[in-house]
Amino acid sequence: MNIAFIGLGNMGGPMALNLQKAGHKVQAFDLSQAACAKWAEQGLAIAASAADAVLGAEAVISMLPASQHVESLYLGDTGLLAQLASGTLVIDCSTIAAASAQKVARAATARGLPCLDAPVSGGTGGAIAGTLTFMVGGEDAALALARPLLEKMGANIFHAGAAGAGQTAKICNNMLLGILMIGTSEALALGVANGLDPKVLSEIMRRSSGGNWALEKYNPMPGVMDTAPAAKGYAGGFGTDLMLKDLGLAQENAAAVKASTPLGGLARSLYAAHSLGGQGALDFSSVIQILQKR
Ligand code: NAD
Repeated sequence: MNIAFIGLGNMGGPMALNLQKAGHKVQAFDLSQAACAKWAEQGLAIAASAADAVLGAEAVISMLPASQHVESLYLGDTGLLAQLASGTLVIDCSTIAAASAQKVARAATARGLPCLDAPVSGGTGGAIAGTLTFMVGGEDAALALARPLLEKMGANIFHAGAAGAGQTAKICNNMLLGILMIGTSEALALGVANGLDPKVLSEIMRRSSGGNWALEKYNPMPGVMDTAPAAKGYAGGFGTDLMLKDLGLAQENAAAVKASTPLGGLARSLYAAHSLGGQGALDFSSVIQILQKR
């Protein structure tokens, strides 16, 4: 398939590469020249603009930071939707507001373009390994078209419901992730303050009732897990500011449906304090820094 892939960041780059490795013809684009240069070196064909990338494309996949980037890419007179041939499949994998995803889906449907919101979970490790979990919102028929592509980038594909439902599932998941990373960090910092070896404590909790994804795959304490962002000075991974965005989306949504999400709100405040301290670009697991003695 001819695929246009827009957004070659920590997630989009490896996802696009997996599609190319699977035999698809990928034309990629990112606004950042550094990102384009990095992925060109890995063998991706880079287009001069998003408009050029979609020429002849049968599917467009985007992986951008937030709602405003996705809306400006697709909507309006100069947006991509206005340029795509009828029937072109549109898949947005960014984590954005469900309302924005629905806006894009409505505009795509009006132009005869099957469209899905398909945010992901699994981190950069999952993006590289092609083992992401996709949470999909949209029509069955669009998902049937997208499934062979999603299967090249992920191991689990869930149909959450109509347009926007993938995003709603994603913010529920990330609210839980944001909370559990802080809880895990607190527990590790408490143990270390009492002289425990963080590796030993991590293993005890991983195999006990406190076991969770952070302890399995993404330990926040440096020196415990070679593959986690903590081992690389919290570079790459999932930025604190992106987690802050997701927790903000969760709180906005909770306010709209009158849900009570007190820990989600507290977690948002803690990541905001961490970001204000100048660490917004670091991986979100660096939040442990505000909980431990340095
Ligand atoms: P990132 O900041 O590393 O990459 C985003 C890329 O989009 C950047 O390279 C930026 O230059 C590019 N970009 C922005 N606007 C653009 C435009 N109009 N056209 C082309 N390129 C544009 O972010 P990421 O970590 O890859 O995350 C991308 C999305 O995936 C976010 O919504 C994030 O919340 C979500 N997500 C991230 C992770 C993770 O572990 N990093 C996991 C799951 C979901």
